[in-house]
Amino acid sequence: MALVHANPKPGEPALRQAMVAAARQLSAQGLNRGATGNIGVRCGASFLITPSGVPAEELTPEAMVAMDFSGATLDPGKPSSEWRFHRDILATRPDIGAVVHTHARFATALACLQREVPAFHYMIAVAGGDTIRCTPYAIFGSQELSSLALQALEDRKACLLGNHGMIALGVDLQDALAVAVEVESLCEQYWTALQLGQPNILSASQMQEVLEKFKGYGRAQDLQSAPAALASHQG
Ligand code: 13P
Ligand code: ZN
Repeated sequence: MALVHANPKPGEPALRQAMVAAARQLSAQGLNRGATGNIGVRCGASFLITPSGVPAEELTPEAMVAMDFSGATLDPGKPSSEWRFHRDILATRPDIGAVVHTHARFATALACLQREVPAFHYMIAVAGGDTIRCTPYAIFGSQELSSLALQALEDRKACLLGNHGMIALGVDLQDALAVAVEVESLCEQYWTALQLGQPNILSASQMQEVLEKFKGYGRAQDLQSAPAALASHQG
């Protein structure tokens, strides 16, 4: 039986649709497979999250679960097991509107080494700083994992989760997806460079210069999110 959402918030039906499309895109681009990964999006004073254990191909807009910031579900479905980090990120980061979690191949491989990604390429600035941090291991779905992720995401839009995967953040869903795609690409480049030796690491002042330049990068409509604009325009 289809679930009925009696009083949707303004924009909520479109957000639910966009979450289905985003989950399918992550799957099509190889960033997730099966039921791995999840998506959370701010929606007024609550948020929407993908249901637990449902492969992207089987997702529907109605299957998304609305939750409030106390952790109560406002829909009948079972929310993603990772609702704690989605809630905690959206609650503590007013600059962020969407959270994307993936088990993408290269990000996860580096996360299994618990390896922070250094400034081996200037595009690391897409993640908001001069590193992409990696958390220690904590079991999926735990409050401990959420706390570790919050720490690793301080002043950042992405982090790796030790022995697990990555989290990418954005002002909106499109932005968070662009950050996730770029982070996976950076992890692949870093992994590849490591095959031949130790990459040259850009200095703090070189990265500061990039971060400043990003502030004015892109088309006027993209300026709110210059790093993601750069990521999506580079192809
Ligand atoms: P869910 O299906 O519960 O979202 O779990 C997938 C996952 O990636 C857990 O970390
Ligand atoms: Zn996961």
